Amino acid sequence: MSGETAGTQTVQEGARLIDGSAVAKKVRDQVAVDVAALRARGVVPGLTVVLVGDDPASAVYVGGKEKASREAGMAGETIRLPSTTSQAELLALIDQLNHDETVHGILVQMPLPKQIDPETVIDRISPTKDVDGFHPVNVGKLLIGNTDGFVPCTPAGVQVLLGEYGVRTSGAHCVVIGRSTIVGKPMAALMMQPGPLADATVTVCHSRTRDLAEQTRQADILIAAVGRAQLVTAPMVKPGAVVIDVGMNRIADASTKSGTRLVGDVDFEDVRRVASLITPVPRGVGPMTIAMLLRNTVTAAQRSVRA
Ligand code: NAD
Repeated sequence: MSGETAGTQTVQEGARLIDGSAVAKKVRDQVAVDVAALRARGVVPGLTVVLVGDDPASAVYVGGKEKASREAGMAGETIRLPSTTSQAELLALIDQLNHDETVHGILVQMPLPKQIDPETVIDRISPTKDVDGFHPVNVGKLLIGNTDGFVPCTPAGVQVLLGEYGVRTSGAHCVVIGRSTIVGKPMAALMMQPGPLADATVTVCHSRTRDLAEQTRQADILIAAVGRAQLVTAPMVKPGAVVIDVGMNRIADASTKSGTRLVGDVDFEDVRRVASLITPVPRGVGPMTIAMLLRNTVTAAQRSVRA
């Protein structure tokens, strides 16, 4: 998986696909090796996921996280609380998990019921167990360039994909579409840091950007994290660019059993004609998110042994 570099000016026959499932498997295999080493020292890395309420999409995500952590040999527990749970009850549970030495990673699944303030909850998780990387201490560490925090899983996974496919990021112009706290902002922060798989010149676009296409056409590396189905089309992409599609959107499709289909923020069939490398949806960025969550949890367990 190497050889491609960002910014090639020649018109391509069609982009090479980035196989997110294969890279995620590689990360998970390494995680399993690290888990075995920790187990040999008597430490079983533990990820506790807290799910409040009965949102069906959240239940699917949480199920996937629990299964993946078990498969990696970790202790994966999900605590399910009713939708009537008060903020005080949830904070008390987090306090308990913060003090539980068998729990190395804590993840509170979003969204939370309206009586609970998500920021108050995230602030309560110990930064050393915040494997989502959303606690202000970890957000700050990422900006400073301090590597002993946790980086949010999706942007961290994108960076691993770029590395696995030999994308040259140093000096490249990276355009990120989206400025959310969980994807766009940390993605931009990662790419602008000094160091390997970074050192890029970063532009962040968002809903108020005046001429989106003018910005995206400058990108050697274009990362879309918007939540708008097939927003990015071929005329918005520089020939030879590397295109990373974080988006996950359901659109109507009468030809499928469910009547819907999962698509990204990129019009894949259109953009693959001009890009040099592109992530599909599904099996692109998606599988990396869970893989990096496992990676962060094992890192938390390794740090707890060293501490
Ligand atoms: P969000 O809604 O929090 O943020 C979307 C961002 O896009 C905002 O910053 C907004 O300013 C920007 N935006 C909206 N419309 C725009 C437009 N027309 N032009 C330019 N910018 C525009 O979303 P999010 O949580 O960052 O998620 C983005 C997408 O990524 C969603 O589809 C989500 O499902 C997906 N996602 C995927 C994974 C994964 O594991 N693959 C993880 C997280 C999010």
